[in-house]
Amino acid sequence: MKSKFSLLILISALALLALCGIQAYLISNTYELKKTAFFNETAVAVSEIANDREIIALYESLMEVDLKDHLADYFNESITKRQVVDRFYRNADGYNKQFVNRYKVLQKAKGLGYDVTYRQKLRSIVIIDTPSTDTIFTATNSVRDHIFGEKFTSGIFRNINDARTVDTNEFIDRRGDSITINSYDFEVRTTHEIQVPHLQAIVLGRMWVLIAGSIILFLFVIGLLYYSIKNLIMQKKIAEVKTDFINNVTHELKTPLATLSIATKSLRNETIKKNPVAFENTLGIVERQNNRLQKLIDQVLTNSLSAEELQLHKEQVVDNVFFDNLISDFEISTQHAHLTVINKVYLPEVLLRVDRFHLTTALLNVLENAVKYGRDEVVITVSTQLIHTQYIIIIHDNGMGIEEKDQQAIFDKFYRAVYGNVHNVKGLGLGLYFTHQIIKAHAGTITLTSTEEQGTTFTIKLPL
Ligand code: ADP
Repeated sequence: MKSKFSLLILISALALLALCGIQAYLISNTYELKKTAFFNETAVAVSEIANDREIIALYESLMEVDLKDHLADYFNESITKRQVVDRFYRNADGYNKQFVNRYKVLQKAKGLGYDVTYRQKLRSIVIIDTPSTDTIFTATNSVRDHIFGEKFTSGIFRNINDARTVDTNEFIDRRGDSITINSYDFEVRTTHEIQVPHLQAIVLGRMWVLIAGSIILFLFVIGLLYYSIKNLIMQKKIAEVKTDFINNVTHELKTPLATLSIATKSLRNETIKKNPVAFENTLGIVERQNNRLQKLIDQVLTNSLSAEELQLHKEQVVDNVFFDNLISDFEISTQHAHLTVINKVYLPEVLLRVDRFHLTTALLNVLENAVKYGRDEVVITVSTQLIHTQYIIIIHDNGMGIEEKDQQAIFDKFYRAVYGNVHNVKGLGLGLYFTHQIIKAHAGTITLTSTEEQGTTFTIKLPL
C-alpha cells in the first residue's frame, strides 16, 4: 500500500515535471515567434520612414553628389581609394545629425510606443568600368560602424533590407593631354539594420496573458495535486485509525463479555445456586462487568464530544482545594502501589471559574495516562503558575515519553501512539482528544513536551 502510494506520488511529480517542460518549451517557441512577428512589424514601419523626402534627399546628397565627386577625383588619380572612403564617411558624419533627428521625428509620428535604433552600413563601393571592375571598398576592411543612424548596443539586431544602387558617373577626365567628358558605372551596396532596446521586456509584455495564464494554471494543477494527495493520505490515515479503534473497542468489549458469559453460566450452576456466598460473589462479578461495559460505552459516547458540543457549567472553584481533591481521588482510584504525586500547586489560593466536572475529567485523563504509560515507579508532579491573567497547570510524569512524530497527533480523535502493541495498554485514543476539547471549551490551550524514556510534560493554560 505504502509503495503504491509512493509510486503514485512519484508518477504525479514526474507528470508535473513533464508538463512543466512542455509548457516551458511552448512558451519559448511562442516567444521566438512573437519576436519574429515583432521585428517584421517594426521593419515595415521603419522601411516606410526610408521613403521620407528629407531622408531621401540626404541619401542622395551623399551618394550622388559627394561620392561621385570623390570617385571622379579617384579616377583622375588625385586621391587614393582610402581617401575616397574617408571623405565619404566624413560627408556622412556631416549629414548624420540631421538624419538622426529626422528619423526620430518620423519614428515618433509612427506611434510605435517603443524606441527603435536604426543604422545604415556601407558594404561595398565598386566601380564597374566594363570590362573590368575596381573595388573601392568592401565591408571586410570597414573601420566604421555606420554611415547613417546610431551605434548599436551589444544586443540582438535585425537586418531589414540590403540595398544596391547602380549609377553612372559622368566626370571631367583630366588624365590625358586634353580634358574630356568620361563616364563609368558604379555600384554601392548598403545594409539597413534595426535594434530595439528592451526587446525582451516588450515581447514578454505582449505575452503576459499567456505567461500569467500558464503560471496560474500550473499553480492550480500543483494545488489540486497537493490537495488530492493530502486528501488521499488523510483518508488512508482515517481508515487506519478507524481500524485501530474498532480493534481496540472489540478488545475492550471482549474481556467483560467473556467474564459475563462465564458468570452467567456459573449462576445456572446448582452448587453455586446453593452457596449464597459464591452466588453473591458471582452476582458481584456480573455487576462489575456490567458497570465496566457501561463505562466503556459512556467513554465512547461522551469522550467523542467536541468543544462546540460541550455544555459547560462554570462555577467558582478554589484551586488548592480543587487540586487536593483531584489528587487524592486519583490516588485512591488508581490503586497503584508505587505512585507518587507531588503537589506543587501555586499558593496563595486562586479563584477559578471553570466547569468542575469537565476539568476534573480532563486532568484525570492526563494523570491516568501518566500511570498507563508510566514505569513501575510512577512519579507525577502537578504544579501551577499564575502569569498575568493566565492560570497555568503543568503535569509532568517520568513515563516512557512520546515520540516526536506522534506529538502532533496525540490530541486527535482515536489516535494511539503505541500502534504496534495496542493491546498492551488499554485505551481507545479518546482521552487526550476529550481533554483537548474541554480545555478548548474553556478558551484555553494544551501543549506537550516529551523526551523518550524520560517523561512527558503537559502544559495547560486557562484564561482567568
Ligand atoms: P488512550 O490512552 O486511550 O490510548 P489517549 O488519547 O489518552 O488515548 O492517549 C493517546 C496516546 O497518547 C496514547 O495511546 C499514548 O500512546 C500516548 N500518551 C498519552 N499520554 C502519555 C504519557 N503520559 N506518556 C506516554 N504516552 C502517552
